[in-house]
Amino acid sequence: MTIAIIVHGGAWDIPAEDHQAHMDGCRAAMMAGYDVLRNGGTALDAIERAIVMMEDDPIFDAGIGSHLNRAGVVQLDAGVMDGSTLQVGALAAVERLQNPIRVARHLLTSAHNMMVGPGADAYAAAHGFELCDPKKLVVEREVERWKLAKKETPTAGDEFGEIVRGAKPGTVGAVALDRMGNIVAGTSTGGTLYKPVGRVGDSPLPGCGYFADNALGGVSTTGHGESIIRIQLARVAADFCSRLYAPAAAQAAISMLGDRVGGLGGLIVLDHAGRVGFAHNTPHMAHAYLTEAMNAPVVGIE
Ligand code: ASP
Repeated sequence: MTIAIIVHGGAWDIPAEDHQAHMDGCRAAMMAGYDVLRNGGTALDAIERAIVMMEDDPIFDAGIGSHLNRAGVVQLDAGVMDGSTLQVGALAAVERLQNPIRVARHLLTSAHNMMVGPGADAYAAAHGFELCDPKKLVVEREVERWKLAKKETPTAGDEFGEIVRGAKPGTVGAVALDRMGNIVAGTSTGGTLYKPVGRVGDSPLPGCGYFADNALGGVSTTGHGESIIRIQLARVAADFCSRLYAPAAAQAAISMLGDRVGGLGGLIVLDHAGRVGFAHNTPHMAHAYLTEAMNAPVVGIE
């Protein structure tokens, strides 16, 4: 069986001075995941390794360096799905975990699928995961963006959408296929800039922020969560894999996001035959991928 991995670092209008850092971060994470696969490791281990690296890289809106919510706090969401068992593990609105994808993975094989808020942090601690000081997740760049968002938002109301459009998100995601033929998809995010406290987007929701089924493929999405949820973008893209190859499935899904709900975003797709694809209707989406059929990795942002 062939091996393959694709990662993304968020879709939006990424400022030119950050392009290289986004691509470097994607390449390093993708290569780390590919090494796991090459050494006979599982797709689950591969995507966890890739996503942890991107959560630890402050350039991305995941783990350290995430956007701040209206209270000036980082609230993280993450989810993972195993295409062989259809098991799901997810966390939402957690404030004390540097690597929520690790705990999402733990939940995958637990009695529950999703934990939220302080209960999720407590669950993680009870299962041996280290809790961090919430301040550790905050970087100066995001404090500056938060101050600007606060100044530009006169009341805590409908301007939310405009703030989101001006933001520079960098949600991360990865999809991998291992030697055993298993596909796993995962996504991790700090959500949107200046989001209301407790707001949760698509990223931790299976079928919206990610989806995997060995019979179809695996998908991780990014972009305006409120739009992505309405069409269950990840599930839609996986369904397209039953009759389209990955690049066409990705394109068909992003067209549906735009046409049906006017949403902006992007996604990565790895189909059941190990072919990879991506699409976005935003100016940029950092991405990197490598399959056994390729001579060299592809890394890009357009
Ligand atoms: N989809 C994420 C959310 O809405 C944000 C992003 O992908 O940039 O929370």
